[in-house]
Amino acid sequence: MIHEKLPSQMTKMSLRNVEAAFAALLLAFATPTLAQETCPNPGDATNVDDRAMAHIRYLADDRLEGREVGTRGARCAADYIAAQFREMGLEPAGGDDSFFQTFRLRKGSELGNANALVIGGTQYAVGSDWTPLGFSANGRLEREIVYGGHGLSQPGNPDDRYTHIDLSGKIVVLEWGDPVDAHGVSTRSTPHSKATIMEGRGAAGVLVLAPEGMPLPSLEAEYRAALRVPVAVVSNDVADAIRAAANESSTANVVTDVRPTSMEARNVVALLPGSDPELRDEYVIVGAHYDHLGFGGDGSLAPDSRDVHNGADDNASGTAAVIEIARALAAGPRPDRSVLFMTFTGEEKGLWGSAYWVMEPTLAIDDVVAMLNLDMVGRMSEDNVTVFGFGTAEEWDEIMDLAIADMRRPLQVARAPDGYGASDHTSFYVEGIPVLHFFTNTHADYHRPSDDWQRINADGLHRVAELTALVTAHLTAGETQAVPMTLLEQRPPSASEGPSSTSGYGDAYLGTVPDMTPRDSGMRLNGVTAGSPADLGGLLAGDVVVELNGMAVGDLYEYTDALRSTKPDDVVDIIVERDGERLTLTVTMGRRN
Ligand SMILES: [Zn+2]
Repeated sequence: MIHEKLPSQMTKMSLRNVEAAFAALLLAFATPTLAQETCPNPGDATNVDDRAMAHIRYLADDRLEGREVGTRGARCAADYIAAQFREMGLEPAGGDDSFFQTFRLRKGSELGNANALVIGGTQYAVGSDWTPLGFSANGRLEREIVYGGHGLSQPGNPDDRYTHIDLSGKIVVLEWGDPVDAHGVSTRSTPHSKATIMEGRGAAGVLVLAPEGMPLPSLEAEYRAALRVPVAVVSNDVADAIRAAANESSTANVVTDVRPTSMEARNVVALLPGSDPELRDEYVIVGAHYDHLGFGGDGSLAPDSRDVHNGADDNASGTAAVIEIARALAAGPRPDRSVLFMTFTGEEKGLWGSAYWVMEPTLAIDDVVAMLNLDMVGRMSEDNVTVFGFGTAEEWDEIMDLAIADMRRPLQVARAPDGYGASDHTSFYVEGIPVLHFFTNTHADYHRPSDDWQRINADGLHRVAELTALVTAHLTAGETQAVPMTLLEQRPPSASEGPSSTSGYGDAYLGTVPDMTPRDSGMRLNGVTAGSPADLGGLLAGDVVVELNGMAVGDLYEYTDALRSTKPDDVVDIIVERDGERLTLTVTMGRRN
């Protein structure tokens, strides 16, 4: 499950548009596959009577290093799951006769070989004296440099000395942070924010001087698209020399060479074909994500720890359940409808694997009648399981009643209506597919290194798996039981008010639904909430926001940064493009409830 404190890009997207935002990370070009390393032998872990626990013990073993998407641990986990599906005689359904649906994703950025910086005849060493940033444009410049102070802009303020500097065609040298906080990381003082504004004012390039004690930033985790100008950070060791050169209007030669890096990601998909000549072309999906947080960091609730985050409950438990549900159904009478078993990667980063499958389905997605998701089903207390999604189809209550009645030891099912939530079922509900999401609640070890297999409630896990298998059976088997599903639609959370945004947007409220589809520039609005500040200020669906509160908006990230720079009751100018014209609209920001 994704935590409310989401990885950077997830705080900025509505769940509704998760696939489209995710599409920006997908790489269209082919890149070489990682060298294959051998995986740990699951021998010790599988040598127990309880198969589901054996899966968890392997998947949550320290040797799988937390199964972070794109890593060796995730590759070994996927290999293990596929071997299980193969062993029970399921058909490969990941495409190309494989159990794997493989795709490549942007991982970050790295330096190419051509980087160079020469100012006033002095050559500076890349990697020690300076570095281009991960979102820098690649380029080759010979330009005058000009000193721009902190480069913070206050549009409309006549004392804003910065607005009086002519930047056009020049390389501007800026201080890091802001005057009250030299190491500042406030939104307006980030290099990305500053560089975006410089770019908008015609600067040809940006050099940011690091404050004392700050190491040069790493490019590894950079996901953002390149700006249109070169942007670099200069070490504090040489900052004085460059500041002086800027004040003398020296000439700089800058060559930037930054390359996006990619990683391989794999969903594991297996088919149990149905037997009914008509119903076999309809599918029920039973899924769970198998990835977790690796060595922590972004998404961890112990963010300073570099210990393995084993994710036994989150979500080796759901993965183990899917494997054992598959085994039970494959061993029983053939279902009428087909069942597609899927384990997803990249869930913790923002539902990447499930978003990819619905974008590139390996079977006709229109024929999927329902999706059952299991995420964190290993910590049952008492006899309680929470199931979300009852508001997504009329038939769920009845089907659940039947399934519970079939249980040897019935569970207490807390029924919640929500079809949108912080796990992979959301990707399917967005596509109009009825969903259920099984969950045995969060706990003190959630998203921490202590989420270990020893704390799993094995009996509880078996019973949730049994319940899910029974629901699947009612959905797939028998002429009377393969019920048609009647979709119920819910209002999706919008980007500015959804559960994913509580930590991302601050107190101010605008009421827009951003379009997450990548575009060349600006932030297009898919919608405006009726009666919201955006609505009252005249914003319309289809408007492309290019500037907000004095900050240039080139993409979703900058839009979020600009929104964060506002406070409730602020009167904010928003420049939009509408029907080929630029309009300035004035909006009074509201307060988030
Ligand atoms: Zn999680």
